[in-house]
Amino acid sequence: MEKTPALILAPLPDFLMQPLLAAHVCHDYFHAADKAALLAQVGGEIRAIVMAGGSVAPVPLLEQLPRLEIMSVFGVGYDGVPVDWCKAHGIRVTNTPDVLTEDVADTASALVLMTSRQLIAANRFLHAGSWLKGAFPLAHALHGKLAGIVGLGRIGKAIARRLEAHGMRIAYHGRTQQDVGWEYHASLTELARAVDYLVVACPGGAATKHLINAEVLAALGSKGTLINIARGSVVDEGALISALQNGTIRGAGLDVFENEPQVPEALLQCANAVLLPHLGSGTHETRAAMARLVVENLAAHFSGQPLLTPVC
Ligand code: NAP
Repeated sequence: MEKTPALILAPLPDFLMQPLLAAHVCHDYFHAADKAALLAQVGGEIRAIVMAGGSVAPVPLLEQLPRLEIMSVFGVGYDGVPVDWCKAHGIRVTNTPDVLTEDVADTASALVLMTSRQLIAANRFLHAGSWLKGAFPLAHALHGKLAGIVGLGRIGKAIARRLEAHGMRIAYHGRTQQDVGWEYHASLTELARAVDYLVVACPGGAATKHLINAEVLAALGSKGTLINIARGSVVDEGALISALQNGTIRGAGLDVFENEPQVPEALLQCANAVLLPHLGSGTHETRAAMARLVVENLAAHFSGQPLLTPVC
């Protein structure tokens, strides 16, 4: 079968690039020194785009690809894809839901444990030889505490199940109340006021930009901790840094940032923040399953079969 031309918008792992190269003529837009020249040369032929969850495909770029048929996202979050524009232009979009849910939920519950029990600081304490001089300070228990999930979707529910196993109570906020046994808060600020841990697991994009702002952080309060495994854009990072510096909230556990991989120096300096380099789904097993979905969605499209995991 003839290889279809594809534009690669993100740095992709070898275990994804190899099957892509077997089925497509891949043009590496991400690493291209002269992106405009690459588009002028091959833009007219491109029929597929492959990108990562965190990457962005702006409309002006897509307008230069008149034969584009499908965009396959290596991730569940597709906030970098102009979905309405794609729908209007008949371009299919796929993502990689479900296969990453358990790993991302593990990461969120690990952040809850690391922040509550001060495990990162305790590890540093022992490595520094400080145990010989005295005991590590007491931390905070999880059991009996209330966790508020912002965005009770696939990942949010998996997080809730894990936190229940730690003896925590669960509440949640989203645009709609769901048929679940957990307490619903129509107001995000009221949820923040009620909980000890506010765990963000909603999609990124314009609709949720800076949903977690200074008002929500003030409501979370000095005994509250913010956990974000969703997207950096959901949290007003400037407001968060001030809240961490001033003790407005007790701490934060973050896997995602507004301008990755750049993390503000002021946030790096916050001893009450546990910071991870966007590794939520970063296991061999899950990334391999995600890669298979990317490849199989493209194969399904170009052989006229139904898409496995369509966004639109
Ligand atoms: P999902 O099943 O679609 O769940 C999203 C949830 O967010 C839904 O329950 C939805 O409920 C809620 N939501 C949507 N808009 C909202 C808003 N404006 N305010 C509050 N809640 C809102 O998605 P998922 O598979 O759980 O993934 C969730 C997100 O996790 C992804 O979009 C991605 O950004 C992030 N993620 C991060 C990593 C990582 O490595 N850190 C990995 C994978 C995914 P309602 O419709 O009722 O509002």
